[in-house]
Amino acid sequence: MKTLIFSTHPFEKPFIQEAFKLKKNQEFHFSKDHLSIQSAIQAKGYDAISLFTSDDASAKVLKKIKSYGIQYIALRSVGHDHIDLKSAAKLGIKVANVPEYSPYSIAEHTVALLLALDRKIPLGQELIKQNNFCLDSLVGFDLKGKTIGIIGTGRIGAAFARIMHGFGCKLLGFDIIQNDELMEQTDIIYTSLNKLCAQSDVISVHCPLTKFTKHLVNKKLFKSMKKKVIFINTARGSIVNTVDLIEAIENKTIAAAGLDVYEFEIPIFFINHLDKPIEDKLFKKLQSFPNVLITGHQAFLTNEALKGIAATTASNLDEFSKKGSSKNELF
Ligand code: NAD
Repeated sequence: MKTLIFSTHPFEKPFIQEAFKLKKNQEFHFSKDHLSIQSAIQAKGYDAISLFTSDDASAKVLKKIKSYGIQYIALRSVGHDHIDLKSAAKLGIKVANVPEYSPYSIAEHTVALLLALDRKIPLGQELIKQNNFCLDSLVGFDLKGKTIGIIGTGRIGAAFARIMHGFGCKLLGFDIIQNDELMEQTDIIYTSLNKLCAQSDVISVHCPLTKFTKHLVNKKLFKSMKKKVIFINTARGSIVNTVDLIEAIENKTIAAAGLDVYEFEIPIFFINHLDKPIEDKLFKKLQSFPNVLITGHQAFLTNEALKGIAATTASNLDEFSKKGSSKNELF
């Protein structure tokens, strides 16, 4: 089987090379370009492609790669909101994702954002660089005893819940499926989304982006939140209505926001913009707030997670080549 790996980043290359060493019947090549209608031609001559979250796997692009002979797609992500699965199925292209890799990578990054915002680490650093050691603007709060609202208590949400349980926090959860084991381990209480918002001092989003969760966090929900909540999103940008988020920051419903994902991140993230300024007005607005901490979709970026992503991607492709199906196939 011959695979073209689109959107290859230097940080993941050694992990992919290592994972493929064990798969003898696999030939693979790297492309640093992201998949788009223009770059789809690169797929010619391959049986499979591997995609990153920034790739465009919409119906028209899938149709094009199918015409070049692509039969399989291995996603290097948990999230699969960037691929039109219905069109892939219609075209007979089989798709597999990485349903699980270190959930601690994202959960721990969520904690990093929360602690940095609560204890005002970025502002403190800035002041120290100006030789200003006054503490007056740096007062935070103890997390012990505070209420943490977790939207989506799957692998990552549960890992985050366990960490916050260790901090001595009270946990509220909202999910379409209750996690009984997590309830036993952390005393998390499942409640409605509105009650979670009304009672939480910190709200963290960990559900997938689906047609049901697009703009789940919107003006109405921000209105139901406790004033001065810390809001964190490390899941997907489009779960949150960005215009409404900006309004909630401006009207001080939100004391601070930690964002690893952004609704319109695709032309911005994973690229060095030193030579081409960012035009996106909403993003520039978010960047301008001193109480907003943005990371560029890097929550997954640990050695353990990269190793896990590469290993599952290689074995998904191996299964496709040997059996024509994969245990991680998406339907
Ligand atoms: P998971 O499938 O284990 O958990 C998702 C949870 O969300 C499940 O418990 C599910 O029942 C729940 N859910 C689904 N629809 C919901 C709804 N409408 N309302 C409330 N809850 C709902 O997935 P996971 O591994 O925990 O990953 C969660 C998400 O995190 C992924 O879908 C992905 O978008 C995002 N993610 C981000 C990064 C990053 O680097 N920032 C990395 C990996 C994953």
